[in-house]
Amino acid sequence: MNPLLDFSGLPRFADFKPELVTPAVDQLLGENRALIERVAAPGVPATWRDFVEPLEDANERLSRAWGIVGHLNAVMNSPELREAYNSNLPKVTQYYTELSQHPGLYAKYKALAASAEFPGLGRAQRKNVENELRDFRLGGAELPPADKARFTAIREKLSAHSSRFSDNLLDATNAFSHYATDAAEVAGIPEDVLQAAREAAQAEGRPGWKFTLHAPSYLPVMQYADSRALRERMYHAYVTRASEFGKPDWDNSALITAIVELRGELARLLGFASYAEYSLEPKMAESPHQVLAFLGELAGRAKPYAARDLGELQDFARSELGLDRLESWDLGYASEKLRVARYAFSDQEVKLYFPETTVLPGMFQLVERLYGVSIAPAAAPVWHPDVRFYAVRDRAGALIGQFYVDLYARPSKRGGAWMDDAITRRRRDGGLQTPVAYLNCNFSAGVGGKPALFTHDEVTTLFHEFGHGLHHLLTRVDVLGTAGINGVEWDAVELPSQFMENFCWEWDVIAPMTSHADTGAPLPRALFDKMLAAKNFQSGMQTVRQLEFALFDLHLHYDFNPRGDPDKNESVLDLLNAVRRQVAVVFPPPYSRFPHNFSHIFAGGYAAGYYSYKWAEVLSADAYSLFEENGVLDPATGARFWDEILAVGGSRPALESFVAFRGREPKMDALLRHNGMTERV
Ligand SMILES: [Zn+2]
Repeated sequence: MNPLLDFSGLPRFADFKPELVTPAVDQLLGENRALIERVAAPGVPATWRDFVEPLEDANERLSRAWGIVGHLNAVMNSPELREAYNSNLPKVTQYYTELSQHPGLYAKYKALAASAEFPGLGRAQRKNVENELRDFRLGGAELPPADKARFTAIREKLSAHSSRFSDNLLDATNAFSHYATDAAEVAGIPEDVLQAAREAAQAEGRPGWKFTLHAPSYLPVMQYADSRALRERMYHAYVTRASEFGKPDWDNSALITAIVELRGELARLLGFASYAEYSLEPKMAESPHQVLAFLGELAGRAKPYAARDLGELQDFARSELGLDRLESWDLGYASEKLRVARYAFSDQEVKLYFPETTVLPGMFQLVERLYGVSIAPAAAPVWHPDVRFYAVRDRAGALIGQFYVDLYARPSKRGGAWMDDAITRRRRDGGLQTPVAYLNCNFSAGVGGKPALFTHDEVTTLFHEFGHGLHHLLTRVDVLGTAGINGVEWDAVELPSQFMENFCWEWDVIAPMTSHADTGAPLPRALFDKMLAAKNFQSGMQTVRQLEFALFDLHLHYDFNPRGDPDKNESVLDLLNAVRRQVAVVFPPPYSRFPHNFSHIFAGGYAAGYYSYKWAEVLSADAYSLFEENGVLDPATGARFWDEILAVGGSRPALESFVAFRGREPKMDALLRHNGMTERV
């Protein structure tokens, strides 16, 4: 049997081969399509058992098999696997598109929702059906044929425009390079960055150093280069990418207008007044008005701190760096100098106290204490010798869930850190299927046989991903579509992950998980206090910058006219400037074209959704504040967080879950306090 089609247990990584992908996918797609026609047929009763369950069985098989392929493509990439993945991806995408627009399935879901059976179904089942109906509606299922055709055409255009937007940005980014030949020009830049720049120049047979607009080259230059002229040149190139100042083929100006316009039309076809309203329909936030009020309030609270941050930076730059006027290309540089002057400690120094041999057990102990579970290594086939596997059990020893941990970077793994589900909890015919998660990071492995050492940022990342993992693993929902993170509103899904990050700033949690790599000594309290003091460095400026992006994004998709009123000279840039006058303390030069590289909203999934970052941060900080009130390791509060947030997953609205846990609606006070924005300025 093809191991990708073996659903009896854990994925069979040891037996995986890229040539197994196509036959497995083709077989599953064929079987699923046949099944859909069978269950969508008029004679089949629109019941949970006769309709939803067989459909879920089929879709679960596909998502599990394809999930293994996608996971391996991300963590053990090879030319053969990439080829297998890319050649099957369009078929799988096509299948899901058909599924989301299938009139027979939509009719069946509607019949189920209207049936006598429906009110008797469990909460998780009803929510699942309601989500399906909503997604069909948002996918245009209710539209008359002519509008449906237009709807599909708009979607296709939007997808092409978005892809063109990011291609332009990438091409424009790649097209620029700056070659430095004078050692004075590169003064201040760290040696490892210079080494890479030297090798890049040598590869082209040129002397000196080659700098580009890619992050590993651009960011250190802006942060460390003593040459103001070099910083200005790089900055200018960076903020004018894909704009009218560069090659006309790569100019994103017209795409921006077209994308905003098409999104508005798509939303109006479905009866929404704006794209923002359409985007918020499946989210926790209720209306654009509510989001604007939220962002406006946070801005009002944060702006005085941002102004203070900037004032301090300007004073420092004037007195210590001889920069009388702080320009946009000086901000990163002066900030780094100020940070070092103020909090004399390095990431490298901290890192020595966080070996993985104490960090992982420490994180597990925290979770064991909070939730009364036990976490222990277990046996399973893995995709790489470095991968670990663990089982989570309850007090009675019953299995709750299992997870893989793949910590280290390697050339075959994509960047970043993420959690993915391998198996979702589900109860079927009396049997319980327990969940399985993948936790993936890109930390440096240990050298010379010693354990890996983590920076505090990396420890925080690990906690964050484990928070997503726990959301998936500790669910008590038995229905596939609403178990774990499934069906959770997009702007609330970061609550459990950001919540976990808070523990990385608790002395009682952190101290026991430290042990100096050479001496075994725990982290000194004085060093931890310095880390705490540095935690909120420039948090005011960082907050208003995020708010500037979020407000620009929301207005753009809510009350902005993309064609503009020539009398009012209403362009995208005018809108951005108006937002800046409201919230910003730093104003870039007039040539800056930020919208032209704002991929999150023009080429990613964040349109009218950028606010989610701050929104979820308010939720996670406020949820955590109950632990601060009751004791951060209080098991009763832990049990309540599990019951009301982690266990219920997507089976009820996130706001209801939050209120059930916190006893009231969310407030932003805890976030402000965590960010050091409570004392007078
Ligand atoms: Zn996350």
